[in-house]
Amino acid sequence: MKTKILKRFEQQINQFNTCEYKALKTIIKNFDDKKMVANLLETSYEKVVCPHCGEDKYYKWGRQNDLQRYKCKECNRTFNCLSKTPLARLRKKGRWLNYSKCLAEGLTVRYSGELCGVSKTTSFRWRHRFLVGSNEYKTTELNGIVETIDFTIPKNYKGSRNIPKLSKHKKGEDKLSGIYDNVSILFSRDRNRNMYDSVVEKLSVNSLRDNLKYILAKDSLFCSINSNLYRDFIKISKRRHGYIDIEKGEYVKKDIVHINNVIRYSRGLFIWMIRFRGVATKYLFNYLSWFRDLEEFDMNIPSKDILIRAMTITNKLQLLTQT
Ligand SMILES: [Zn+2]
Repeated sequence: MKTKILKRFEQQINQFNTCEYKALKTIIKNFDDKKMVANLLETSYEKVVCPHCGEDKYYKWGRQNDLQRYKCKECNRTFNCLSKTPLARLRKKGRWLNYSKCLAEGLTVRYSGELCGVSKTTSFRWRHRFLVGSNEYKTTELNGIVETIDFTIPKNYKGSRNIPKLSKHKKGEDKLSGIYDNVSILFSRDRNRNMYDSVVEKLSVNSLRDNLKYILAKDSLFCSINSNLYRDFIKISKRRHGYIDIEKGEYVKKDIVHINNVIRYSRGLFIWMIRFRGVATKYLFNYLSWFRDLEEFDMNIPSKDILIRAMTITNKLQLLTQT
């Protein structure tokens, strides 16, 4: 069966000149190049350490699936550079780099799957395995003027078999409370474009402290809307606070106190996510990381980086068994 992409491609190929045709042949030759991807993974595997016991004494133990296999001298178990990483036991290695390019361009599951010749299910699994690496690369310090905002949205159970029953909302209650189970997204950004985001089950002073207290530099100026939540957080975190009253039409104070950058960032994220037609809450953190990367690299993440980041994450496999 010919897909739409293939039909369109057939029409275009007739117009190619000799040079373009040769270039196309090279692209097709490299399309499923397992050795090239394996080579990239192995050259990025800087320190060989047993993922089972952490020991760095090993024997070389042959090759398997184009990757060097090792045997640990301590626990006698074998491993390779992908053992216990999100990429472990994934197949069709030769197409990973092309799939990373699809991620780098922010393409949908279906379209990425079609481009890489894998099913929609595989495409979805690869997306979330590959993105776990980016999730670990959050900033660890926010300096100077730090803008913070939060959004509360209904939980999304897309793809879940067990959707909890939700109670009807009572008269006088906020329309969102009661009907929906909610979740909050917290965004913090400093003026050097360092970005921190998090999905928070229940936004409170404690959850703010858990997320922000240790990454806010001591001399930072924390900017937020004027609310009890943020004022209480400032009391315990002991940072300087600049707040604005958006409800009263106040957007900038003393020329520097505002949260316009973080609002622009979050708006960009929500607009970008429209293409996915709803994102399951359990995967929301992956989409936050994905957009953070896209934004950091001006919408052009080096595809190799996506693979290498995923490979350097170990012991995350339990988290990924559902994908
Ligand atoms: Zn070991």
